[in-house]
Amino acid sequence: MAVGELRWHRDRTYGRCLPQPDGRLGARRRPRHPPGAARLRPAVLCGHAHGGEGGSARPQRHRPELPQLARPRRVGAAVPEGPDLAGAIWHPSPNFWPGREGCGVDGIVLHGTAGGDGPSVAAFLSDPSREASTHFVIGQDGAVFQLVRLRDSAWGNGIPVHSRWPLIAERTGVNPNRYTISIEHAKPSADNSDPLTPAQLRASVSLVRWLLAALPELGLAGDHLVERRDSGSLRDIVIGHCDIDSVTRAHCPGTWDWDGYLELLVADQPGGSA
Ligand SMILES: [Zn+2]
Repeated sequence: MAVGELRWHRDRTYGRCLPQPDGRLGARRRPRHPPGAARLRPAVLCGHAHGGEGGSARPQRHRPELPQLARPRRVGAAVPEGPDLAGAIWHPSPNFWPGREGCGVDGIVLHGTAGGDGPSVAAFLSDPSREASTHFVIGQDGAVFQLVRLRDSAWGNGIPVHSRWPLIAERTGVNPNRYTISIEHAKPSADNSDPLTPAQLRASVSLVRWLLAALPELGLAGDHLVERRDSGSLRDIVIGHCDIDSVTRAHCPGTWDWDGYLELLVADQPGGSA
């Protein structure tokens, strides 16, 4: 996103994440777990009435750690506020909606900042007067800031305009912020023409790889994300902001080697030799 135009990204007029006719689209996917392991979270379908989202209104249940998932923190009211991603710089922003209105995360949206660096963009997106945010910001040095918890809806991906992402048309009236994770990449040039630095690329690939594993394990992923991940159709779930708004955000994330990026997402070693 262009930091000077961030107000666009927030829109309270969108409807809730309603159940779809087939009862699947937009539904939060039940977490996968080994046979016999306790379920991480009660199944929650879109549109279920919680009397609100998140906080004390959402049913919480103690969920034991899964043995194969050591890094992500558990989601729950008893967990101290902090980043979901171990090692991320926790830079909490007040600009978010608690919860996801029952939606599962079905897309990871990549942005370029069109100005600034990691710390300044994190500060910008934590300013309540800006009314904008993303879940993560990655600096050119590879530092990862987390601003919004995964369970909550950041204000980075709203207002579809001639969207190329099929889910937008399938979910008319649902704000994309409800079913996406957003990642800003600091790019100093105003037109986002900078390629990612090697450190930034490694950090971005590592973060997205972690999200693709952690979101289902945490019970936060939707069916679309898990199905496309498992079938190798990563471009259907890892998209650019330009795929949501192909007109006013055509330059976001700007210069981007999609083929190379997608190869790294499935490479044996995250980040490769870049
Ligand atoms: Zn953007």
